[in-house]
Amino acid sequence: MEIENHGINITILGSGTCVPSLQRSSCSVLMQIGATRLLFDSGAGTMRRLLEAETTIFDLDYIFYSHFHPDHSAELVPLIFATKYPDQNQRRSPLTIIAGQGLTELFSGLKAVYGQWIELAAGMLKFIELDNQSRDSLNFSNFTVESRPVEHNPESIAYRITSADGASAVYSGDTDFSENLIELAKDADLLICESAMPDSLQVKGHLTPSMAGEIAARAGVGKLVLTHFYPDCDDADIEQECRKTYRGPLLLAEDLMKIKVTR
Ligand SMILES: [Zn+2]
Ligand SMILES: [Zn+2]
Repeated sequence: MEIENHGINITILGSGTCVPSLQRSSCSVLMQIGATRLLFDSGAGTMRRLLEAETTIFDLDYIFYSHFHPDHSAELVPLIFATKYPDQNQRRSPLTIIAGQGLTELFSGLKAVYGQWIELAAGMLKFIELDNQSRDSLNFSNFTVESRPVEHNPESIAYRITSADGASAVYSGDTDFSENLIELAKDADLLICESAMPDSLQVKGHLTPSMAGEIAARAGVGKLVLTHFYPDCDDADIEQECRKTYRGPLLLAEDLMKIKVTR
C-alpha cells in the first residue's frame, strides 16, 4: 500500500497509567515512518499491545522515553531480555534508546541488577541523551526529532517528530501546564497530549482536559489526541471539558487506535 509510505502512521498502544486496567494498557505510542518504527514509552503491557498492532520487538528501531516513571519505562528490561530469545541474531539492526539526561545512569543501575541478561551484541544497543534543560534536536535519514523540557520530572522531555515529507506529530509525555510544550507543538499536525485527570481533580505535574485544550489551541495544532487517562476520567465528560478551551479536531485515545498524519 503506497499510502503507508507517506507521513506518520500512529498506533496508541497504551492510553492508561500505572493503574492496572484491561481497557487501558500503560503508556506507549508507536509511530511508523516508512519502514522505520519509533516507540514512545514502554509501560507494562507494551510488548503484547505491539503484537496486537502486528509489530514485534524486532521491528523497533528507536525507543523514546518521555521520563522514567515505571508506567512509562518498566518494560524496557523485559523487551531487551526477550530480544535474546531464541538468539539475539534475530535483531539485524541496532535498537537506539533516546531520553533526557539520566538515561545512561538509569541503564547502569539496571545493568547492576540484571547484568548480561540485558546486554546485546556489540553495537546493537545504542543510547542517546537529550538536553533536559533546553531545546535539543536530532536528525535521522527519514525524520527529525525536536525536544523541549516539560513540567513533570527533572528528566522529562516532550518530542516533536517530523517525517521527511513534512508530517509532524508531538508527544507530550507527562507534564503540568507547559509553555515549552506550546512552543514545541506550534502548528504541528498532531498533538498527543496527556490529560491525566478531570478538571475537578487536577493534580500537580499533570494536565486536565481543559489545560490540554488550551495548549493545543495556543499551539494551533491540526488535531489533538488526549491520552494517559486515570480511572477518575471514566466518570467525567472529558470531551466537554476539553471543549471549554479547544475547538479543533479532537480524539480521546483508546488502546490500538490508529491515526494517520500527513501534510
Ligand atoms: Zn510520570
Ligand atoms: Zn504517567
